[in-house]
Amino acid sequence: MPNRTPIVFGNWKMTQDRAGAVALAAGVHQATVGMAGVQVGVCPAFVHLDAVGAALKAVDSHVALGAQDAWTEPNGAFTGEVSLAMLKDLGVSWVLCGHSERRHVIGESDELVSKKALAVLNAGMNCILCCGETLAQREAGETDRVNERQVRAGLNGVTSEQMSRVVIAYEPVWAIGTGKNATPQDAQNAHVAIRGLIGQLYGAGVAAALRIQYGGSMKPENARDLINQPDVDGGLIGGAALKSDSFAGIVRAAVGSA
Ligand code: PEP
Repeated sequence: MPNRTPIVFGNWKMTQDRAGAVALAAGVHQATVGMAGVQVGVCPAFVHLDAVGAALKAVDSHVALGAQDAWTEPNGAFTGEVSLAMLKDLGVSWVLCGHSERRHVIGESDELVSKKALAVLNAGMNCILCCGETLAQREAGETDRVNERQVRAGLNGVTSEQMSRVVIAYEPVWAIGTGKNATPQDAQNAHVAIRGLIGQLYGAGVAAALRIQYGGSMKPENARDLINQPDVDGGLIGGAALKSDSFAGIVRAAVGSA
C-alpha cells in the first residue's frame, strides 16, 4: 500500500472579518509549523483570499491556500462568480468542489459539480471533491449508492493523470456542523467503498494512491480514532478549524498516520 500523506484542510465558510481571517491564518501557521508529514491548508472566503495569501506568503508558510468554490468558465458575463484564473492570481492552489452546503443549500447539481471539478483540474489546480449522504439516505441504507453517484458524476471526464491532483472528502451531511460524527468504522466503510469505486474507474494504482478525507464534526478529541482508520487520510474541518489550537490538534492527530 502506498504511503499516503495525510491532508487536513480548514473550511472557514462565511465566517471571519478580514483581520480575523489574517489572524487565524497566522495562528494556523504558527501552531502547525513543526508538524511534518501532513499537508495542511485553509479555505477562507473569496474576499479574504488575497489578504490571507499575503499573510501566508510573508512567512513562507507550509499552509496551502484553498478556495471554497469557483466558476467553470475562464471569463465573461457571470455576475457574482469568480474564475480559476482570478484565484490562481491570488496564490490559490486548491478548490473545494461540491461541498454539501453548495449541493444542498445553494442547489448545485452533480453536473455542475462535475464541470467545476474538471475546470479546476484543467486549470492545473488541485480539487477536493466532496460527497456524502443525508440522514434520510443513510437511514434508507443508501450511503454507498449516494457516494458512488456523486463521485462517478464528479469525476466525469477526469483522466488517470489528473487523479493525482484529486482528493475526495467523504462528508456525511448529517454530521456537518451538528456535533455528531460518523463512527470511525462507518467512516472506514464508506472510504473503502469509495476507494473500490476508484479502483473500478481508474485501476488499483490510482485507487491506492488516492487520499480520502473524512469531514463532519471532526475535532481534536475524535480525530485520532478517525484518522487512524486505514482508509481515512485526513480531514476537512469546519467548526474546529476556526480556532488555530483546535485545528492544530487535528493536524497533530494526523502526524504519523500515513
Ligand atoms: C465542513 O463544513 O466541511 C465540515 C466538516 O464542517 P464541521 O467540521 O463543522 O462539521
